[in-house]
Amino acid sequence: MSTDFDLCVVGGGIIGAGIAQAAALNGLSTVIVERKGWGSGNTQKSNKLVHGSLEHFTGSNIFQTREDLVERQVLLSIAPDIIKSSWFYLPVFEDDRRLPWSTELQLMAYDILSGKTKLPWFKKLSEDEWRGLDGLNQFKLEAVYKFIDAHTDEVVLTQELVRSAKIHGALALCPVNFDEAIKIPDGYKVQVTKGSRTRTFECRFIANATGAWSSLTAERMGLFSKIPAVQCVKSTYIEFAQQLSEKRFFIEPVNNAGRLIVAPWREGTLVGSAEKLFTGNPEHVKPTVEEVEYLVKTVRHHFPHFNHSPSQAWSGLGSKLLAKKQSKGPDRRLFLLEEARYLGVYGGQLTSYRILAEKAVKNILGILNGNVEGSLEKPFISSSSMGI
Ligand SMILES: Cc1cc2nc3c(=O)[nH]c(=O)nc-3n(C[C@H](O)[C@H](O)[C@H](O)COP(=O)(O)OP(=O)(O)OC[C@H]3O[C@@H](n4cnc5c(N)ncnc54)[C@H](O)[C@@H]3O)c2cc1C
Repeated sequence: MSTDFDLCVVGGGIIGAGIAQAAALNGLSTVIVERKGWGSGNTQKSNKLVHGSLEHFTGSNIFQTREDLVERQVLLSIAPDIIKSSWFYLPVFEDDRRLPWSTELQLMAYDILSGKTKLPWFKKLSEDEWRGLDGLNQFKLEAVYKFIDAHTDEVVLTQELVRSAKIHGALALCPVNFDEAIKIPDGYKVQVTKGSRTRTFECRFIANATGAWSSLTAERMGLFSKIPAVQCVKSTYIEFAQQLSEKRFFIEPVNNAGRLIVAPWREGTLVGSAEKLFTGNPEHVKPTVEEVEYLVKTVRHHFPHFNHSPSQAWSGLGSKLLAKKQSKGPDRRLFLLEEARYLGVYGGQLTSYRILAEKAVKNILGILNGNVEGSLEKPFISSSSMGI
């Protein structure tokens, strides 16, 4: 039986775009469907960091941190015009959760895990250097460190991946809604809608890259009961029209709930995030007054001179499978149903989009070619770079 596409990717965030690019580059006839705009979902609501998550780096997640830092290096080398490295400033105050010595140890381990790169190692600033740090509160300040990490414009990156996928033969549909998929012997019959126009096509495999909407998407494929529960975490950000500094800071909030980022963004300043668990319709996620006040209070505490009001506030959602053991697949973030020819991505990061896309496409190719194990050995995904 002939089908229109080998692969239908649902969702045009960073994860879907990465999978579409890797699939198209590796010979799969691919269609990607996004209902709003490329990267307009939770991708756009990220911290914009390409990093090993220093904030969450503990001994127990050392392998994940290492993988992310290797990816950071790969992405810095394949997309230097979109992904850039910068110094991040880390002040440590007397009442902070982390003391200077433990911060120093954490930074040292972070740099070691980065491996051999041309990036400089972290530095401890002298007291004279603190003074010039753009109005940083000096009361109870014990030490200031700076370390290297990378950042990007995530929407531009997503658009570039889609552009690359198209150049390699993929069909990119946006704004087009994925309505449903009905299982047929050799894959799925998919229905999509643009305005009042409905279109159907067939595909051999579906990759669900709709992030926080992934349960709703699985429901539209009749797979809801086969997909494990997903947990969503809401993160809230504020933006100021004024630029606080040209530097990027990580600051500890007054309640020690995990560091916040304060970074220049476009002409102004981005501050976030305040995190909490979220249940409900992802469409309805929005900041509360308390979350915004908490972020404003934290910025003013650290930069007392910066007494502007935020110009906007917004919330994003991260999603992950509730329990590790529920995850079937080559990676805890990929859930594979071989019989159903379905792959879902849960908890994908901006930083890890490329490696997840590689793993996803290797497995999809393996299933479509009837040999999952064998296909994992082949080095054919190595070209899934930005090379366009
Ligand atoms: C607040 C926050 C901060 C983060 N910061 C960082 C960071 O600094 N660094 C990092 O590496 N990672 C970060 N992450 C993680 C990462 O950025 C996001 O999880 C990731 O970008 C999500 O990408 P995605 O493609 O999975 O989802 P999304 O970007 O949400 O994409 C899903 C897409 O599916 C589309 N869609 C949904 N339903 C349908 C349908 N029926 N038909 C068609 N399209 C549909 C949506 O419109 C959306 O565009 C952060 C996450 C959050 C929430």
